[in-house]
Amino acid sequence: MTEKLSILGSTGSIGTQALDVCENAGIAVTALTANSNAKLIEAQARKFKPKMVALADEVAAKELKIRLGDTDIKVLGGQKGVCECAAEETADTVLNGIVGMAGLEPTLTALGAKKGLALANKETLVAGGSLVTRTAKENNIRILPVDSEHSAIFQCLQGMNKKQELKSIILTASGGPFFGKTRAELENVTVAEALRHPNWSMGAKITVDSATMMNKGLELIEAVWLFDVSPSEIQIVVHRESVVHSLIEYVDNSVIAQLGVPDMRIPIQYALTYPERIPSPVKRLSLSDYKSLTFSKPDYETFRCINLCRSAIEKGGLFPAIANGANEKANELFRKGKVGFLQIADLVEAAISNGVSKDNYTLSDVLEADRAAREFVESHVR
Ligand code: NDP
Ligand code: MG
Repeated sequence: MTEKLSILGSTGSIGTQALDVCENAGIAVTALTANSNAKLIEAQARKFKPKMVALADEVAAKELKIRLGDTDIKVLGGQKGVCECAAEETADTVLNGIVGMAGLEPTLTALGAKKGLALANKETLVAGGSLVTRTAKENNIRILPVDSEHSAIFQCLQGMNKKQELKSIILTASGGPFFGKTRAELENVTVAEALRHPNWSMGAKITVDSATMMNKGLELIEAVWLFDVSPSEIQIVVHRESVVHSLIEYVDNSVIAQLGVPDMRIPIQYALTYPERIPSPVKRLSLSDYKSLTFSKPDYETFRCINLCRSAIEKGGLFPAIANGANEKANELFRKGKVGFLQIADLVEAAISNGVSKDNYTLSDVLEADRAAREFVESHVR
């Protein structure tokens, strides 16, 4: 059970809900970080009284230093400052709720400092999977998943006797706002339409990833690294209601699922209280309110990103980093109105075909693959 927690990305959707969990569970907050939202992190710092805070944006960090001038909270800036918060010495656990590749070095820093790691920042496990899991192993740290599907699998696995008894993992997907739509109907969808998720309220990047279903592809790769399974052992099923958060299948064909209302405070709390459980303010699940739960096959032709991610992890090496980097850029360009919705998958596919990989990669290889994939996407849009 976590007693002292540093939260990276505290101003985001995961970060603010993590602070709610800390308040309810009586977990002390030792460090907070964000990118540039000085106003919100100031309010959080005044309320939770961490020892240090950091903003990745140096200009915003200067503003925060002035804002918190009357307190004894240490204010840091830049990626270096964020990493210093990830290693804050009194914390036993770090929750990484940063969006995107900016979370990679903070994750490695937290692991290197032997902190427990509650990981929401899936992009960095996708891009640097072998690096992150090796660093965790070397430091004897078990990565605790925050992503709801992976938390569900992790919870289902608590009853597992031996690894050989696990047959498959079944990831559920809500299908996002465009479930049931044809490619022709998706040609001209707007950013506002893509941001209207039916079940979850999340940051903009992951909400667009849910609309393209790239999110499910990233989660497939995330599951490969977290649970040490091969991509062929992972099935994906669309479940519109987001009540069954994922399932595991044993060799005797017995299937175990984890259920709950769609509220991220459940998986966040479990990652922080593991192996214990404590009461939560989240609404109880009333199955009879739902009447029926539905399950169907994903439409792989329309939502091409799922299989692009599957092929990236099957190819291995730096291909997941290339797929992720290309998606981060294409997703951003879509949100800025610079590319169409269907172009996101096309750009990810082209970046993978064009990408150069290598096995046994280092941190600088991952960062370079990410940079090259982004540059590739940018140059194909201009
Ligand atoms: P948000 O966009 O809501 O929040 C992102 C956080 O990261 C903010 O605190 C932001 O700071 C900070 N940040 C952004 N860029 C940088 C940077 N360059 N350096 C340091 N910090 C940065 O995202 P979410 O909370 O939705 O998602 C966070 C992660 O969790 C993602 O990886 C996502 O895939 C994963 N996740 C999210 C779920 C959800 O329900 N939201 C569910 C499952 C997984 P600032 O506010 O200053 O910009
Ligand atoms: Mg998820």
